Amino acid sequence: MTVPILRQLTDLRAKHATWIRAGETVAVVPTMGALHAGHLSLVKAASAACDRVIVTIFINPRQFNNAADLASYPRTEHEDAAKLVGLGVDVIYVPDGGQIYPDGYSTNVSVSGVSDVLEGEFRPGHFDGVATVVAKLFLQTGAHRAYFGQKDYQQLMVVKRMARDLDIPIEVIGCPTVREASGLAMSSRNLRLSPEGLDRAATLYQVMQQVAARLTGGESLGPLADEARDKLASVGFADIEYFDLRCEDQLQLLQRPTRPARLLVAAWMDGIRLIDNIEVKELKA
Ligand code: AMP
Repeated sequence: MTVPILRQLTDLRAKHATWIRAGETVAVVPTMGALHAGHLSLVKAASAACDRVIVTIFINPRQFNNAADLASYPRTEHEDAAKLVGLGVDVIYVPDGGQIYPDGYSTNVSVSGVSDVLEGEFRPGHFDGVATVVAKLFLQTGAHRAYFGQKDYQQLMVVKRMARDLDIPIEVIGCPTVREASGLAMSSRNLRLSPEGLDRAATLYQVMQQVAARLTGGESLGPLADEARDKLASVGFADIEYFDLRCEDQLQLLQRPTRPARLLVAAWMDGIRLIDNIEVKELKA
């Protein structure tokens, strides 16, 4: 058994029309492939809630601000298709580049505010690329619901804002981060870590959990972040780009979790950039 792969928008639209005529609900799970259990959890959530599921696989050049990162991004279409068998996926949409950015393509979707900090600061242009491709995928698939991982928490906020601002009639749903047994957040980029790097990278989640607990206990971020950076450097994290506490909706900086908040981190291990975030429970009164 295989899941059909469509590469042309006209074919996708034809399928979609039959589903809509039958009154069915359609979900989309946008990915860049190299599928792992994190992606599959989104697919399972989608097929539990909707009649039809489209998984998209498109390595979007516009969201890479580093040519080497784009060139070395894993491309595993065959394996990806095999992993989706039996999960209730109706179609895998792998658009040819021309389906997304045809000759003369000139439109950019840019979400200000929530895109400007964190990843936006360290990866200029990244969220314009994300917002643009996701807007196109929402419009091309005509899905009623879209499933995204909280692993990329800021991306989830950007996509929600974009859909609301552009009146795209789609419900954007955030699903919990899936982790390795070690606690390391699953990521396609983990494939590029050495076995030893994988072990050392697991410290990130442990440190984040300790900091989150101490924040909820009343300590403020400044000294905790210094301690955390030292600890991470001692296990081999080369560059900790941010280690921030931010409110969960607007992503404004906080020193203490006086409102619903998240701890968000980006750091380099073995030349690989890793990001993670966790919820921080509100300060005990
Ligand atoms: P990507 O292929 O990296 O663009 O990711 C596609 C979708 O999978 C995004 O919505 C990600 O947030 C989500 N995702 C990636 N890793 C995980 C994970 N470990 N747990 C849950 N969702 C994830």
